[in-house]
Amino acid sequence: MILFAPLCSGSSAYIGTKTEGILVDAGASAKSILTALGEVGVEPGAVKAILVTHDHSDHIKGLRVLTKRLRVPVCSTVETLEGIIDTGNLTPGTEVLELSSQMELAGMEVVPFDTPHDVAHSVGFRIQAGERAIGYATDLGEVTAEIWQGLSGADLVLIESNYEPRLLAISSYPYYLRQRIASDHGHLSNPDCADTVRRLAQTGTARFVLAHLSRENNTPELAAAHGVRQYAPAFGWDYLTEQLAGLDFQAGEVDGIPVDPGGGAGLEPPQGDTQPPQAVR
Ligand SMILES: [Zn+2]
Ligand SMILES: [Zn+2]
Repeated sequence: MILFAPLCSGSSAYIGTKTEGILVDAGASAKSILTALGEVGVEPGAVKAILVTHDHSDHIKGLRVLTKRLRVPVCSTVETLEGIIDTGNLTPGTEVLELSSQMELAGMEVVPFDTPHDVAHSVGFRIQAGERAIGYATDLGEVTAEIWQGLSGADLVLIESNYEPRLLAISSYPYYLRQRIASDHGHLSNPDCADTVRRLAQTGTARFVLAHLSRENNTPELAAAHGVRQYAPAFGWDYLTEQLAGLDFQAGEVDGIPVDPGGGAGLEPPQGDTQPPQAVR
């Protein structure tokens, strides 16, 4: 039975069984990630590796302490690993694994795909866990052909729905930052996410997690209204926003919204572009 559990408002996620799995990103404190993990019934020892999408701080904040506590390998692109090490975000002695085009971690097959974002080399993942495929794509300025290939047909897709264009346009962020967020190396807007969700549903994806909502330039309601709600009645999907914590694949109902309220995310405010506006997150 495969668990997909967004942790700490989507700043990390656990994928795997209750006894063996991986974390994707570590954007909250190690303590809160481990607490959230415990709340979905997963012991720290179950984590066999940490996959990292890129080295913006909202994805690696807890990595140094987490690698000290868990003593597991960290896996990402060479450029991201170098960035993490150079900035002291990894406990010395931590094993690092360079991503290859296809690798096995915790009994699951991981296939990375490049994402266009404001860093040296960011990636998303397609993770095959037994019969189930999970797509993970956050922090992307646009959905490229490679991303599309990585996500299409997956059973569950976590995808960024970062900003509402009209809110970004009037946001307090400086002009240059708004330009960068909206660029094709920034973040995915609600309408662009919606379009992708609609197309993915036609490839068979039945579950969506809308993630990385900007606190400043979005709300869960706006993201859901654009991204899923308007299509849900037609297709009978369920959907999750980052407020909803755990999803048990095999026990999940297609028409309901399986929620594990003890998952740690609770009703915390959305996460996303919440840092001081000095860089695209
Ligand atoms: Zn981010
Ligand atoms: Zn980022």
